[in-house]
Amino acid sequence: MDCVFCKIANGEIPSKKAYEDDRVLAFYDLDPQAPVHILIIPKNHIQSVEDITEENSGIVGHIFEVAAKLAKENNLENGFRVVSNVGKDGGQSVPHLHFHLLGGRSMKWPPG
Ligand code: AMP
Repeated sequence: MDCVFCKIANGEIPSKKAYEDDRVLAFYDLDPQAPVHILIIPKNHIQSVEDITEENSGIVGHIFEVAAKLAKENNLENGFRVVSNVGKDGGQSVPHLHFHLLGGRSMKWPPG
């Protein structure tokens, strides 16, 4: 499958890793939008939040455990944002489920 995040997950494309286990990979975003900007992905290909089902939703809880751990490790005790863009209107540019962990600055709401 020609998916850039699958290639990052299997090591074909290099990344700066923040965390890895058998199910997920977290790596630093190439174009950071905050002092801390890490992407957390499932290693198995799931296109987006739209494709989360009763069968595969367990990975989402695990991704949030990893987000909490990375937030602690990066001293984001003042707060942070976890966001997943979905589809064209959601601003998703890579069609492999990913959660952005953003922190180290004050976030605005609503996002653009
Ligand atoms: P989204 O626009 O929500 O789909 O987010 C995709 C994110 O992936 C963007 O923030 C990109 O900067 C980031 N990105 C794309 N390719 C790479 C890569 N090879 N390594 C790290 N981050 C990437």
